[in-house]
Amino acid sequence: MNKKDILRRIPKIDEVLQQQPLFDFFEEKGSAFVTDTARGVIDSLRKEILALTDELAEDFDVDKLAINRVAESVIDKLYEEDRNNLIPAINATGTILHTNLGRAPLCREAVENIAKVSRSYSNLEYDVKAGKRGSRHDIVSSLIVELTGAEDAMLVNNNASATMIVLSAMAAGKECIVSRGELVEIGGAFRIPDIMEQSGATLREVGTTNKTKISDYENAINENTGALMKVHKSNYDIVGFTEEATLEELVALGKKYDLPVIYDMGNGLMVDMSAYGLDEPNVPASLATGIDVMLFSGDKLLGGPQGGIIVGTEKYIKAMKKNPLARAIRVDKMTFAAMEETLKKYRDEKVALRDIPVLNMISADKADLKAKAERLADAIKAECGDALKVELVEVEDQIGGGSAPSVRLPGWAVAVTSDTATTKSLERKLRKYELPVIARIQYDQLLLCVRTIAEDELAEVARALK
Ligand SMILES: *Cc1c(COP(=O)(O)O)cnc(C)c1O
Repeated sequence: MNKKDILRRIPKIDEVLQQQPLFDFFEEKGSAFVTDTARGVIDSLRKEILALTDELAEDFDVDKLAINRVAESVIDKLYEEDRNNLIPAINATGTILHTNLGRAPLCREAVENIAKVSRSYSNLEYDVKAGKRGSRHDIVSSLIVELTGAEDAMLVNNNASATMIVLSAMAAGKECIVSRGELVEIGGAFRIPDIMEQSGATLREVGTTNKTKISDYENAINENTGALMKVHKSNYDIVGFTEEATLEELVALGKKYDLPVIYDMGNGLMVDMSAYGLDEPNVPASLATGIDVMLFSGDKLLGGPQGGIIVGTEKYIKAMKKNPLARAIRVDKMTFAAMEETLKKYRDEKVALRDIPVLNMISADKADLKAKAERLADAIKAECGDALKVELVEVEDQIGGGSAPSVRLPGWAVAVTSDTATTKSLERKLRKYELPVIARIQYDQLLLCVRTIAEDELAEVARALK
């Protein structure tokens, strides 16, 4: 058929829109969206035909221009366009706080409370007892105080913004003394020195990359000094010929010169996890050294929503709540809803380890992980038969998210190989599955690390492989 005749067969948009299968979409998604999508589908058909050579036009399948077929294409396109950009994914990498995969998955109660509180109105800034305006700061302050032993607390948008407001309230126009070994990049081009400068504080670097003594801080103190600051080495280790000042030494120095000491702890670990190979400072223990103000993330080892928690002496926290930046970095009701439920778990350490996914994954028993890997291998065999070879292998999982970089958690994975597909193509196909499965490649094997795969996701991983 020649091109002109083919073009004439393209159905009119009005005819397509009258097709029965599209009616439901009109109702649910609105006529503007459906009409625009149909127009797009018809336009691309026209373009496709115009681009044909005479030879190819002869072979063109005109059946696909039938009204019902075009309507089907419109429906396919509607589903495609309607898909969210932000979707769930399965983390089979064994890295628990995977920043690219959204850091901490939330506990069930946190998720349910987000829906409950945001579906309707709430008392976000309303004191129902007094019948007048309340403060959103009060929602989690007392709980954080109860759990950490701090005088006062504040929740902001993330730990980066916590750094901003802490320095702005405590050291703007003054010098803040920090070790050269701690002036680091956290990731995504977020550098501690840049943030400090933005806050209006002047950075005063002391010591060297590998060694900073308490005397280095002391020698740098002058009439312009506003604060002493320590930044936890979250995402790197300095090994070998090293020295750093301890929190206790800094607190003593701060007392001697009447200067506040700030500790950017980063990871927000609330309980002692050394029994599980995680030798990191925790919030209550660090605070007990006498630090004036401490800050950490809500979605790293704390296991909650994105947030920055600031704890410390009442006079400083009060000043931060009044600082104009507080409004710019304030937290939404959904974050408060998730954070309150997450924090409540910490009233009992056993409950926290059981219910907060991040802690549960860190403390997972190796024998249990092996049994889980066996269940995954069985599910894959049931779905895929002999098409794939599966084998259980031992792996070293990681904390991730710029936390505890040297810690390796002994775990188990299912290694998958295929006679017909390369490891790379398997990895790519899993990643592009409608529920993306993010796997790891090691020694040309596709590894599905079970520590970070939830029990109810095992069957889904097997289906994805099929
Ligand atoms: C992660 C981290 C930050 C940044 O925290 P976000 O919550 O990602 O903004 C700042 N300081 C330290 C030490 C960190 O580990």
